[in-house]
Amino acid sequence: MVFSEVRGHEKTKAVLLRTMKRRRLPPAMLFSGPDGVGKKTLALLTARGYLCERGPGEPCDACSACGRIRRGVHPDVRVVAPDGTAIKVERVRELVRDINAVPFEARARFFIVDEAHSLTEEASNALLKGLEEPPRRSHVVLITASPMSLLPTIRSRCQTLRFATLPPSDIREHMERELGMPADEARLRAQLGNGSIGAAIALESESYREMRVLLLELLARITDMPAIERLERAQRLSEEENAETALTTMRSLLRDIAVIRQGGGVSLLNADAEASLRGIAQGRIGGRAIQYAERIGDLRSTLRGNANRLMVMDLLIQTLAGEEGLHLLDPS
Ligand SMILES: [Zn+2]
Repeated sequence: MVFSEVRGHEKTKAVLLRTMKRRRLPPAMLFSGPDGVGKKTLALLTARGYLCERGPGEPCDACSACGRIRRGVHPDVRVVAPDGTAIKVERVRELVRDINAVPFEARARFFIVDEAHSLTEEASNALLKGLEEPPRRSHVVLITASPMSLLPTIRSRCQTLRFATLPPSDIREHMERELGMPADEARLRAQLGNGSIGAAIALESESYREMRVLLLELLARITDMPAIERLERAQRLSEEENAETALTTMRSLLRDIAVIRQGGGVSLLNADAEASLRGIAQGRIGGRAIQYAERIGDLRSTLRGNANRLMVMDLLIQTLAGEEGLHLLDPS
């Protein structure tokens, strides 16, 4: 992902790119604004753009630095997040030591403090010490939805960039293009997401949740499931009130499994089910998740064409069981 692919925040992105190119990126920045609008995404992108071997500027997305920052393994980029509910003083003392150290290999070091309002009082004071003398080769980015809960003395040492909520059209496009969500679902979630991509992703209804539990269980067990039970599962799915949503949901689960399998870096649609997804990603399904997700897209088209529901669900189960069967289908 590059700056132009991040939804909204046009002015903020322009400021960041300009200061990066001039090598004038402030040593301490505060990204403040509602949750789920892209603050952390842009903080990481700034680190990538600045440390890119062809930069600083728009990250090339091809060099070793870009790749390692994306995978979260670059030694000069660190993200600090609450350990439970708080960011404790030990973490910050360690951070302050590192802020004053020289970079391992890049032109600078980046320290991103997520949910900075979770800093304990002691931790805040420790951080303040670290920012008293502006670090020369380190950049600290504090991220928070409630800047007023930070110490005023910390706020005053940071250059603040404010993030606003996103218009629904931006959210819808993000969900469709970056997350591969079907248009109707993306539209619905964008409307309900209150200007936050994070909220739109997390949105779920009760019945949706229940169905997803069933689908997760199916994915976890399908490989060892006796034939008779597979038939029962297909029957049950074909009786779902909204069979198309079942397929869409299955597709979103497989998409997440593929993301995990590839080492992450992209937000999960079903982040709350991450533990189960991780388990499934390690197994046979994990290795073929992308392929299965694509086939389910075909099945959805077939279902829309008024195909027999039970037949479609039988094919779904056969596909997931690794028995193929989709050659029977002509998606046209
Ligand atoms: Zn690069």
